Amino acid sequence: MPLTNVQTRDVEALLHPYTALHKLRETGPLVLDHGKGVYVYDTQGKEYIEGMSGLWCAGLGFGDEELIETAKEQLSRLPYYHLFGGKSVEPAIELAEKLKEIAPFEASKVFFTSSGSEANDTQVKLAWYFNNAKGRPEKKKIVSRVKAYHGVTIVSASLTGLPNNHRDFDLPVDRILHTDCPHYYRFGEAGESEADFTARIVGNLKAMIEREGPETIAAFIAEPIMGAGGVIVPPKGYYEQVQALLAEHDILFIDDEVINGFGRTGNWWGCETMNFTPDSISCAKQLTSAYAPLGAVMVSQELYDAFVAESQKIGVFGHGFTYGGHPLSCALGVKSIEIYQKRNILAHVRSLAPQFEERLKRIADHPLVGEVRYSGLVGGVELVADKTTKRPFQPGHGIGALCARHGESNGLIVRAIGDTIALCPPMIITSDELDALFDRLEKTLDDTE
Ligand code: PLP
Repeated sequence: MPLTNVQTRDVEALLHPYTALHKLRETGPLVLDHGKGVYVYDTQGKEYIEGMSGLWCAGLGFGDEELIETAKEQLSRLPYYHLFGGKSVEPAIELAEKLKEIAPFEASKVFFTSSGSEANDTQVKLAWYFNNAKGRPEKKKIVSRVKAYHGVTIVSASLTGLPNNHRDFDLPVDRILHTDCPHYYRFGEAGESEADFTARIVGNLKAMIEREGPETIAAFIAEPIMGAGGVIVPPKGYYEQVQALLAEHDILFIDDEVINGFGRTGNWWGCETMNFTPDSISCAKQLTSAYAPLGAVMVSQELYDAFVAESQKIGVFGHGFTYGGHPLSCALGVKSIEIYQKRNILAHVRSLAPQFEERLKRIADHPLVGEVRYSGLVGGVELVADKTTKRPFQPGHGIGALCARHGESNGLIVRAIGDTIALCPPMIITSDELDALFDRLEKTLDDTE
Protein backbone atom coordinates (compact mmCIF):
# COMPACT_ATOMS: atom_id res chain seq x y z
CA MET A 1 0.00 0.00 0.00
CA PRO A 2 1.32 3.49 -0.83
CA LEU A 3 2.17 5.58 2.21
CA THR A 4 -0.32 8.23 3.34
CA ASN A 5 0.74 11.86 3.46
CA VAL A 6 1.41 11.80 7.22
CA GLN A 7 3.40 8.54 6.89
CA THR A 8 5.54 10.09 4.16
CA ARG A 9 6.21 13.15 6.31
CA ASP A 10 7.17 10.81 9.16
CA VAL A 11 9.75 8.77 7.24
CA GLU A 12 11.22 11.94 5.76
CA ALA A 13 11.67 13.62 9.17
CA LEU A 14 12.05 11.10 12.02
CA LEU A 15 14.79 8.75 13.16
CA HIS A 16 12.68 6.16 14.96
CA PRO A 17 13.85 4.42 18.13
CA TYR A 18 13.76 0.60 18.27
CA THR A 19 12.72 0.20 14.66
CA ALA A 20 13.94 -1.82 11.69
CA LEU A 21 14.88 1.38 9.89
CA HIS A 22 15.32 -0.27 6.48
CA LYS A 23 11.75 -1.66 6.54
CA LEU A 24 9.98 1.45 7.80
CA ARG A 25 10.31 3.27 4.49
CA GLU A 26 8.20 0.52 2.88
CA THR A 27 5.60 -0.11 5.59
CA GLY A 28 5.33 3.38 7.06
CA PRO A 29 4.56 3.95 10.74
CA LEU A 30 1.21 3.54 12.48
CA VAL A 31 0.41 7.16 13.37
CA LEU A 32 -1.79 7.44 16.46
CA ASP A 33 -4.00 10.44 16.94
CA HIS A 34 -6.03 10.16 20.14
CA GLY A 35 -7.05 7.77 22.89
CA LYS A 36 -9.72 7.08 25.50
CA GLY A 37 -9.63 4.41 28.21
CA VAL A 38 -7.92 1.30 26.81
CA TYR A 39 -8.46 2.39 23.19
CA VAL A 40 -6.28 4.43 20.82
CA TYR A 41 -7.23 5.63 17.34
CA ASP A 42 -5.04 6.21 14.31
CA THR A 43 -5.18 9.17 11.93
CA GLN A 44 -7.67 7.25 9.75
CA GLY A 45 -9.99 6.81 12.77
CA LYS A 46 -9.34 3.06 13.17
CA GLU A 47 -9.70 1.79 16.78
CA TYR A 48 -7.16 -0.39 18.58
CA ILE A 49 -7.16 -1.98 22.03
CA GLU A 50 -3.84 -0.81 23.46
CA GLY A 51 -2.61 -4.17 24.77
CA MET A 52 0.74 -2.74 25.93
CA SER A 53 -0.23 0.49 27.75
CA GLY A 54 2.03 2.17 25.18
CA LEU A 55 5.40 0.95 26.42
CA TRP A 56 4.24 -0.72 29.70
CA CYS A 57 3.47 2.71 31.08
CA ALA A 58 -0.03 4.17 30.53
CA GLY A 59 -1.44 2.14 33.41
CA LEU A 60 -4.47 4.41 33.83
CA GLY A 61 -5.21 4.36 30.11
CA PHE A 62 -5.81 7.37 27.90
CA GLY A 63 -7.77 10.58 28.37
CA ASP A 64 -8.14 10.37 32.16
CA GLU A 65 -9.96 13.59 33.12
CA GLU A 66 -8.44 13.87 36.60
CA LEU A 67 -4.91 13.64 35.25
CA ILE A 68 -5.69 16.14 32.49
CA GLU A 69 -7.06 18.63 35.05
CA THR A 70 -4.01 18.12 37.29
CA ALA A 71 -1.70 18.90 34.36
CA LYS A 72 -3.64 22.05 33.44
CA GLU A 73 -3.59 23.33 37.02
CA GLN A 74 0.12 22.71 37.49
CA LEU A 75 1.04 24.26 34.14
CA SER A 76 -0.79 27.45 35.00
CA ARG A 77 0.63 27.59 38.55
CA LEU A 78 4.31 26.83 37.84
CA PRO A 79 5.25 25.02 34.61
CA TYR A 80 8.88 24.54 35.55
CA TYR A 81 11.30 24.75 38.38
CA HIS A 82 14.21 22.62 39.54
CA LEU A 83 15.71 21.15 42.69
CA PHE A 84 19.34 22.27 42.19
CA GLY A 85 21.29 24.11 44.86
CA GLY A 86 18.60 24.15 47.52
CA LYS A 87 15.54 25.08 45.39
CA SER A 88 12.40 23.00 45.56
CA VAL A 89 8.79 22.63 44.46
CA GLU A 90 5.90 21.26 46.46
CA PRO A 91 4.79 18.55 43.97
CA ALA A 92 8.28 16.97 44.20
CA ILE A 93 8.16 17.05 48.00
CA GLU A 94 4.68 15.52 48.07
CA LEU A 95 5.57 12.81 45.58
CA ALA A 96 8.73 11.87 47.51
CA GLU A 97 6.62 11.58 50.69
CA LYS A 98 4.09 9.37 48.93
CA LEU A 99 6.81 7.14 47.47
CA LYS A 100 8.37 6.71 50.90
CA GLU A 101 4.96 5.72 52.28
CA ILE A 102 4.42 2.95 49.73
CA ALA A 103 8.07 1.83 49.42
CA PRO A 104 8.65 -1.87 50.19
CA PHE A 105 11.77 -1.10 52.22
CA GLU A 106 12.87 1.66 54.63
CA ALA A 107 13.34 4.32 51.95
CA SER A 108 14.99 7.43 53.30
CA LYS A 109 15.27 9.75 50.26
CA VAL A 110 13.99 10.02 46.69
CA PHE A 111 16.03 11.33 43.75
CA PHE A 112 14.10 12.30 40.59
CA THR A 113 15.15 11.73 36.99
CA SER A 114 13.31 12.07 33.67
CA SER A 115 13.40 8.40 32.68
CA GLY A 116 14.09 4.83 33.71
CA SER A 117 17.48 4.85 31.96
CA GLU A 118 18.54 7.92 33.93
CA ALA A 119 17.31 6.26 37.13
CA ASN A 120 19.52 3.22 36.48
CA ASP A 121 22.50 5.35 35.45
CA THR A 122 21.99 7.17 38.73
CA GLN A 123 21.91 3.85 40.60
CA VAL A 124 25.33 2.89 39.23
CA LYS A 125 26.84 6.28 40.03
CA LEU A 126 25.37 6.09 43.54
CA ALA A 127 26.79 2.60 44.09
CA TRP A 128 30.24 3.91 43.05
CA TYR A 129 29.91 7.05 45.17
CA PHE A 130 28.75 4.94 48.13
CA ASN A 131 31.78 2.67 47.98
CA ASN A 132 34.15 5.60 47.60
CA ALA A 133 32.53 7.10 50.70
CA LYS A 134 33.02 3.79 52.49
CA GLY A 135 36.72 3.73 51.59
CA ARG A 136 36.31 0.75 49.24
CA PRO A 137 37.39 2.21 45.88
CA GLU A 138 37.84 -1.26 44.33
CA LYS A 139 34.22 -2.36 45.02
CA LYS A 140 32.69 -1.11 41.76
CA LYS A 141 31.49 -3.93 39.48
CA ILE A 142 27.77 -4.27 38.85
CA VAL A 143 26.19 -7.65 38.09
CA SER A 144 23.22 -7.70 35.75
CA ARG A 145 21.64 -10.60 33.84
CA VAL A 146 21.42 -11.92 30.30
CA LYS A 147 18.13 -10.62 28.76
CA ALA A 148 17.80 -7.88 31.39
CA TYR A 149 16.48 -4.52 30.22
CA HIS A 150 17.59 -1.48 32.18
CA GLY A 151 17.62 1.27 29.53
CA VAL A 152 19.71 2.73 26.73
CA THR A 153 22.06 5.37 28.10
CA ILE A 154 25.67 4.21 28.03
CA VAL A 155 25.70 2.58 31.44
CA SER A 156 22.06 1.46 31.55
CA ALA A 157 22.46 -0.04 28.05
CA SER A 158 25.52 -1.85 29.38
CA LEU A 159 23.39 -3.24 32.21
CA THR A 160 20.85 -4.34 29.61
CA GLY A 161 21.66 -7.89 28.54
CA LEU A 162 20.28 -7.89 24.99
CA PRO A 163 22.54 -8.11 21.91
CA ASN A 164 20.73 -5.37 19.92
CA ASN A 165 21.51 -2.84 22.63
CA HIS A 166 25.23 -3.67 22.59
CA ARG A 167 26.13 -4.65 19.05
CA ASP A 168 27.85 -1.83 17.11
CA PHE A 169 27.28 0.63 19.97
CA ASP A 170 30.60 -0.61 21.45
CA LEU A 171 28.92 -1.79 24.64
CA PRO A 172 28.96 -2.98 27.38
CA VAL A 173 31.41 -0.71 29.18
CA ASP A 174 33.87 -2.11 31.74
CA ARG A 175 32.84 -3.13 35.24
CA ILE A 176 29.45 -4.51 34.12
CA LEU A 177 28.98 -8.30 34.31
CA HIS A 178 26.07 -10.48 33.20
CA THR A 179 24.94 -13.62 34.97
CA ASP A 180 22.31 -16.19 33.89
CA CYS A 181 18.80 -15.33 32.81
CA PRO A 182 16.38 -17.08 35.20
CA HIS A 183 14.21 -18.54 32.43
CA TYR A 184 13.61 -22.24 33.04
CA TYR A 185 11.67 -22.94 29.80
CA ARG A 186 14.50 -21.61 27.60
CA PHE A 187 17.61 -22.32 29.65
CA GLY A 188 16.70 -25.35 31.79
CA GLU A 189 18.68 -28.40 30.66
CA ALA A 190 17.10 -31.67 29.53
CA GLY A 191 15.87 -33.59 32.57
CA GLU A 192 16.67 -30.72 34.96
CA SER A 193 13.94 -29.83 37.47
CA GLU A 194 13.05 -26.18 38.05
CA ALA A 195 14.59 -26.38 41.54
CA ASP A 196 17.81 -27.83 40.12
CA PHE A 197 17.90 -25.14 37.43
CA THR A 198 17.55 -22.46 40.12
CA ALA A 199 20.30 -24.02 42.22
CA ARG A 200 22.55 -24.20 39.14
CA ILE A 201 22.17 -20.57 38.10
CA VAL A 202 22.49 -19.26 41.67
CA GLY A 203 25.60 -21.48 41.91
CA ASN A 204 26.93 -19.79 38.76
CA LEU A 205 26.35 -16.37 40.35
CA LYS A 206 28.18 -17.51 43.47
CA ALA A 207 31.07 -18.77 41.32
CA MET A 208 31.16 -15.42 39.46
CA ILE A 209 31.31 -13.49 42.75
CA GLU A 210 34.12 -15.69 44.03
CA ARG A 211 36.04 -15.55 40.74
CA GLU A 212 35.83 -11.74 40.48
CA GLY A 213 36.30 -11.29 44.24
CA PRO A 214 33.38 -10.01 46.37
CA GLU A 215 35.53 -7.01 47.32
CA THR A 216 35.23 -5.85 43.66
CA ILE A 217 31.43 -6.17 43.34
CA ALA A 218 29.26 -3.24 44.35
CA ALA A 219 25.76 -4.28 43.34
CA PHE A 220 23.42 -6.70 41.62
CA ILE A 221 20.54 -5.24 39.60
CA ALA A 222 17.33 -7.02 38.68
CA GLU A 223 13.81 -6.43 37.39
CA PRO A 224 11.64 -8.67 39.62
CA ILE A 225 9.81 -9.94 36.51
CA MET A 226 11.92 -9.30 33.42
CA GLY A 227 9.91 -7.21 30.96
CA ALA A 228 11.57 -6.23 27.71
CA GLY A 229 13.67 -9.41 27.72
CA GLY A 230 10.44 -11.34 27.06
CA VAL A 231 8.27 -11.23 30.24
CA ILE A 232 10.25 -13.76 32.24
CA VAL A 233 9.01 -14.84 35.66
CA PRO A 234 11.90 -16.38 37.63
CA PRO A 235 11.33 -19.70 39.44
CA LYS A 236 10.07 -19.82 43.02
CA GLY A 237 12.89 -19.48 45.53
CA TYR A 238 15.30 -17.82 43.07
CA TYR A 239 15.30 -14.35 44.65
CA GLU A 240 15.50 -15.70 48.21
CA GLN A 241 18.70 -17.55 47.27
CA VAL A 242 20.13 -14.57 45.37
CA GLN A 243 19.34 -12.20 48.25
CA ALA A 244 21.11 -14.47 50.78
CA LEU A 245 24.19 -14.65 48.54
CA LEU A 246 24.34 -10.86 48.11
CA ALA A 247 23.95 -10.27 51.85
CA GLU A 248 26.78 -12.71 52.56
CA HIS A 249 29.12 -10.66 50.34
CA ASP A 250 27.91 -7.15 51.23
CA ILE A 251 26.63 -6.53 47.69
CA LEU A 252 23.78 -4.03 47.19
CA PHE A 253 20.52 -5.28 45.71
CA ILE A 254 19.18 -2.71 43.19
CA ASP A 255 15.57 -3.35 42.23
CA ASP A 256 14.49 -2.04 38.82
CA GLU A 257 10.72 -1.56 39.18
CA VAL A 258 10.36 0.52 36.01
CA ILE A 259 7.80 -1.95 34.55
CA ASN A 260 6.79 -3.91 37.65
CA GLY A 261 6.04 -0.95 39.92
CA PHE A 262 2.68 0.62 40.79
CA GLY A 263 0.41 -2.40 40.75
CA ARG A 264 1.34 -4.15 37.51
CA THR A 265 1.82 -7.52 39.27
CA GLY A 266 -1.07 -6.96 41.73
CA ASN A 267 1.12 -5.46 44.48
CA TRP A 268 2.67 -2.01 44.61
CA TRP A 269 6.04 -3.53 43.75
CA GLY A 270 7.27 -6.57 41.88
CA CYS A 271 9.69 -7.34 44.71
CA GLU A 272 6.67 -7.91 46.98
CA THR A 273 5.24 -10.37 44.45
CA MET A 274 8.63 -12.07 44.03
CA ASN A 275 9.56 -11.95 47.71
CA PHE A 276 12.77 -9.98 48.16
CA THR A 277 13.78 -6.73 49.83
CA PRO A 278 16.11 -4.37 47.95
CA ASP A 279 18.53 -1.66 49.12
CA SER A 280 17.28 0.78 46.50
CA ILE A 281 14.60 1.05 43.82
CA SER A 282 14.41 2.57 40.34
CA CYS A 283 10.96 3.40 39.03
CA ALA A 284 9.40 5.38 36.16
CA LYS A 285 6.63 4.69 33.60
CA GLN A 286 3.45 4.03 35.67
CA LEU A 287 4.79 6.51 38.25
CA THR A 288 2.87 9.12 36.23
CA SER A 289 0.87 6.63 34.19
CA ALA A 290 2.99 8.10 31.35
CA TYR A 291 1.11 11.43 31.31
CA ALA A 292 4.55 13.10 31.62
CA PRO A 293 8.12 11.71 31.76
CA LEU A 294 9.48 10.95 35.22
CA GLY A 295 11.82 8.50 36.92
CA ALA A 296 12.84 8.10 40.54
CA VAL A 297 15.47 6.38 42.67
CA MET A 298 14.67 5.56 46.29
CA VAL A 299 17.56 4.92 48.65
CA SER A 300 18.02 3.66 52.21
CA GLN A 301 19.28 5.72 55.15
CA GLU A 302 22.63 3.89 55.04
CA LEU A 303 23.19 4.98 51.44
CA TYR A 304 22.01 8.52 52.09
CA ASP A 305 24.30 8.92 55.13
CA ALA A 306 27.28 7.90 52.99
CA PHE A 307 26.32 10.41 50.24
CA VAL A 308 26.16 13.21 52.78
CA ALA A 309 29.57 12.27 54.19
CA GLU A 310 31.13 12.05 50.71
CA SER A 311 29.62 15.30 49.41
CA GLN A 312 30.89 17.05 52.55
CA LYS A 313 34.43 16.27 51.39
CA ILE A 314 33.82 17.71 47.91
CA GLY A 315 31.35 20.46 48.83
CA VAL A 316 28.52 19.40 46.53
CA PHE A 317 26.69 16.25 45.45
CA GLY A 318 27.52 16.64 41.77
CA HIS A 319 24.68 14.78 40.10
CA GLY A 320 21.29 15.95 38.84
CA PHE A 321 19.13 16.49 35.76
CA THR A 322 17.48 19.71 34.56
CA TYR A 323 14.07 18.02 34.60
CA GLY A 324 14.54 15.88 37.73
CA GLY A 325 11.61 16.81 39.99
CA HIS A 326 9.76 18.66 37.21
CA PRO A 327 6.61 20.06 38.84
CA LEU A 328 4.28 18.95 36.04
CA SER A 329 5.57 15.36 36.14
CA CYS A 330 5.59 15.26 39.94
CA ALA A 331 2.03 16.63 40.20
CA LEU A 332 0.96 13.88 37.77
CA GLY A 333 2.88 11.34 39.89
CA VAL A 334 1.07 12.45 43.04
CA LYS A 335 -2.29 12.27 41.25
CA SER A 336 -1.51 8.85 39.71
CA ILE A 337 -0.71 7.35 43.13
CA GLU A 338 -3.84 8.96 44.57
CA ILE A 339 -5.91 7.37 41.77
CA TYR A 340 -4.26 3.95 42.25
CA GLN A 341 -5.32 4.22 45.91
CA LYS A 342 -8.81 5.68 45.69
CA ARG A 343 -9.92 3.62 42.67
CA ASN A 344 -8.45 0.42 44.22
CA ILE A 345 -6.43 -0.30 41.10
CA LEU A 346 -4.24 -2.94 42.80
CA ALA A 347 -7.32 -4.89 43.94
CA HIS A 348 -8.73 -4.53 40.42
CA VAL A 349 -5.55 -6.02 38.92
CA ARG A 350 -5.72 -8.90 41.40
CA SER A 351 -9.38 -9.51 40.58
CA LEU A 352 -8.70 -9.66 36.81
CA ALA A 353 -5.50 -11.75 37.13
CA PRO A 354 -7.34 -15.14 37.15
CA GLN A 355 -9.17 -14.23 33.92
CA PHE A 356 -5.87 -13.02 32.36
CA GLU A 357 -4.24 -16.31 33.38
CA GLU A 358 -7.15 -18.43 32.13
CA ARG A 359 -7.20 -16.75 28.70
CA LEU A 360 -3.41 -17.04 28.39
CA LYS A 361 -3.55 -20.74 29.30
CA ARG A 362 -6.15 -21.25 26.57
CA ILE A 363 -3.74 -19.65 24.10
CA ALA A 364 -0.99 -22.00 25.28
CA ASP A 365 -2.74 -24.78 23.33
CA HIS A 366 -2.26 -22.92 20.04
CA PRO A 367 0.18 -24.77 17.72
CA LEU A 368 2.43 -21.66 17.44
CA VAL A 369 2.75 -21.15 21.20
CA GLY A 370 5.61 -22.68 23.19
CA GLU A 371 5.06 -21.06 26.57
CA VAL A 372 2.82 -18.44 28.20
CA ARG A 373 4.09 -16.43 31.19
CA TYR A 374 2.25 -14.01 33.42
CA SER A 375 1.91 -12.17 36.70
CA GLY A 376 -0.92 -9.77 37.57
CA LEU A 377 -1.69 -8.02 34.26
CA VAL A 378 1.59 -8.53 32.45
CA GLY A 379 2.10 -11.51 30.18
CA GLY A 380 4.21 -13.04 27.43
CA VAL A 381 3.38 -15.54 24.69
CA GLU A 382 6.47 -17.21 23.23
CA LEU A 383 6.03 -18.41 19.66
CA VAL A 384 8.02 -21.45 18.54
CA ALA A 385 8.63 -23.34 15.31
CA ASP A 386 8.12 -26.69 17.08
CA LYS A 387 5.95 -26.91 20.17
CA THR A 388 7.19 -30.36 21.23
CA THR A 389 10.93 -29.69 21.03
CA LYS A 390 10.66 -25.92 21.90
CA ARG A 391 12.68 -25.25 18.73
CA PRO A 392 12.63 -21.48 18.05
CA PHE A 393 12.11 -19.93 14.62
CA GLN A 394 15.28 -19.24 12.62
CA PRO A 395 16.93 -15.96 13.64
CA GLY A 396 15.61 -13.20 11.39
CA HIS A 397 12.36 -15.08 10.61
CA GLY A 398 10.41 -12.22 12.17
CA ILE A 399 7.46 -14.26 13.46
CA GLY A 400 6.90 -11.87 16.38
CA ALA A 401 6.84 -8.79 14.15
CA LEU A 402 4.51 -10.56 11.71
CA CYS A 403 2.14 -11.43 14.56
CA ALA A 404 2.18 -7.83 15.86
CA ARG A 405 1.28 -6.59 12.34
CA HIS A 406 -1.65 -9.02 12.14
CA GLY A 407 -2.66 -7.72 15.57
CA GLU A 408 -2.86 -4.19 14.18
CA SER A 409 -5.06 -5.39 11.31
CA ASN A 410 -7.33 -6.95 13.97
CA GLY A 411 -7.47 -3.77 16.07
CA LEU A 412 -4.98 -4.86 18.73
CA ILE A 413 -1.63 -3.34 19.65
CA VAL A 414 0.85 -5.78 21.21
CA ARG A 415 4.63 -5.74 21.33
CA ALA A 416 6.90 -8.27 19.67
CA ILE A 417 10.03 -8.96 21.71
CA GLY A 418 11.84 -11.25 19.31
CA ASP A 419 9.49 -14.24 19.16
CA THR A 420 7.58 -13.32 22.31
CA ILE A 421 4.36 -11.31 22.18
CA ALA A 422 4.12 -9.10 25.25
CA LEU A 423 0.84 -8.02 26.84
CA CYS A 424 0.55 -5.25 29.39
CA PRO A 425 -2.91 -3.67 29.06
CA PRO A 426 -3.91 -0.54 30.99
CA MET A 427 -4.72 -1.63 34.55
CA ILE A 428 -8.15 0.01 34.28
CA ILE A 429 -9.25 -2.56 31.67
CA THR A 430 -12.65 -4.14 32.36
CA SER A 431 -13.38 -7.85 32.24
CA ASP A 432 -15.29 -7.46 28.92
CA GLU A 433 -12.45 -5.43 27.40
CA LEU A 434 -9.97 -8.10 28.51
CA ASP A 435 -12.07 -10.76 26.76
CA ALA A 436 -12.18 -8.59 23.63
CA LEU A 437 -8.37 -8.24 23.77
CA PHE A 438 -7.91 -12.02 23.93
CA ASP A 439 -10.52 -12.66 21.20
CA ARG A 440 -8.50 -10.36 18.93
CA LEU A 441 -5.25 -12.03 19.99
CA GLU A 442 -6.59 -15.52 19.24
CA LYS A 443 -7.66 -14.40 15.77
CA THR A 444 -4.25 -12.78 15.33
CA LEU A 445 -2.45 -16.04 16.16
CA ASP A 446 -4.68 -17.93 13.68
CA ASP A 447 -3.88 -15.32 11.01
CA THR A 448 -0.14 -15.69 11.74
CA GLU A 449 -0.07 -19.51 11.41
N1 PLP B 1 14.22 -0.37 33.20
C1 PLP B 1 13.25 -1.19 32.74
C2 PLP B 1 12.92 -2.43 33.51
C3 PLP B 1 12.56 -0.87 31.58
O1 PLP B 1 11.63 -1.71 31.10
C4 PLP B 1 12.90 0.31 30.90
C5 PLP B 1 12.18 0.70 29.66
O2 PLP B 1 11.41 -0.07 29.11
C6 PLP B 1 13.92 1.12 31.40
C7 PLP B 1 14.56 0.75 32.56
C8 PLP B 1 14.34 2.36 30.68
O3 PLP B 1 13.38 3.33 30.84
P1 PLP B 1 13.32 4.59 29.84
O4 PLP B 1 12.92 4.06 28.51
O5 PLP B 1 12.29 5.48 30.50
O6 PLP B 1 14.66 5.21 29.85
